Amino acid sequence: MAAEKLLARLVAVADNGAISLGPDIVVDGHRCGAVARVTTHIHNDHTRGLSTSLRRLALHIATPLTHDLLEAMGYRVDPSRRVDVSYGAKLRIGDAMLRLLPARHVPGSAQVVVDIDGLLLGYTGDFKLPGTEPIRGAEVLVVDATYGMPEWRRPWQDEVEYLLPDLVNDALMKGPVNIYAYNGKIEEVLLLLRSHGVDAPVVAPRRKYRMLRVLEKHGYRIGDVLPEGSAEALEAERGGWVIRFRSFSEWSRRRRLAGVNVKLTGWEFQAPYRWLNTRDLVVSFSDHADFDQLVRYVAEARPRLLVVDSARGGAAARVFAEYARRRLGLQAVAAP
Ligand SMILES: [Zn+2]
Repeated sequence: MAAEKLLARLVAVADNGAISLGPDIVVDGHRCGAVARVTTHIHNDHTRGLSTSLRRLALHIATPLTHDLLEAMGYRVDPSRRVDVSYGAKLRIGDAMLRLLPARHVPGSAQVVVDIDGLLLGYTGDFKLPGTEPIRGAEVLVVDATYGMPEWRRPWQDEVEYLLPDLVNDALMKGPVNIYAYNGKIEEVLLLLRSHGVDAPVVAPRRKYRMLRVLEKHGYRIGDVLPEGSAEALEAERGGWVIRFRSFSEWSRRRRLAGVNVKLTGWEFQAPYRWLNTRDLVVSFSDHADFDQLVRYVAEARPRLLVVDSARGGAAARVFAEYARRRLGLQAVAAP
């Protein structure tokens, strides 16, 4: 099939999650021989092999915010290789013209568009809607399909953005609120809470604290954020009117902290939120498109060939590719 040949020549998704857009550019994974690596955002499944790329490839490309967050996470980006690309700006690499476009996911996230002699190749990175403008007219578009199964729907996704600040504010009246979330989601949730008037001091683990300060440097309003264990943090915790951010993996040890525990998870499809008991609350909150949003995105993007990333999406990628073929009439494959 002609489209498959095109795919093999220009675009590849490797088992390690590295996405090649043309011969010189690799995204969110390492590939020997590439000239430039792009990192779309700071999540672990998009920074695989990053230390190797930072040592061996000539250029590392990201938004200025993602670069600063990566450095706060401990990556050392040699200034001679670091190329900050703001949303919409163009960068020439060999025969390719590269652009990063906004993706609503975690602060700094980007979609990648590469134009090689008028042939458009794209990768969505992780995203959700609204707030992510689809890449239209691509010859080949690689899409993330974390929630690619038709039963993975969260019709309340917008509503949760109002519900969560209310739930947190109500709980704060009784004492501390401990929020358990994955890396990256913490940044997004803090900004959401602040924009809805939740002003309680936030206590964050040291590394998180550094990352939140990076957001502040980039103009985001993070409010009162204190490093865990500091005198100010201890004082705020004694007062009880405080939000503590904890990593998702600590949920099983939540009994060690006083207050209400809130788990943020994208894998809750029954209701926007549910109380497990009087102290433990699970909120269906994701920074990824659910199935309906994925359909909306690709239906608007209508690439000539859709490649669904199965290095990250697993079995859901195959299901989604099949859906795109049958129901949306797109040429679609899952890869690898
Ligand atoms: Zn992500």
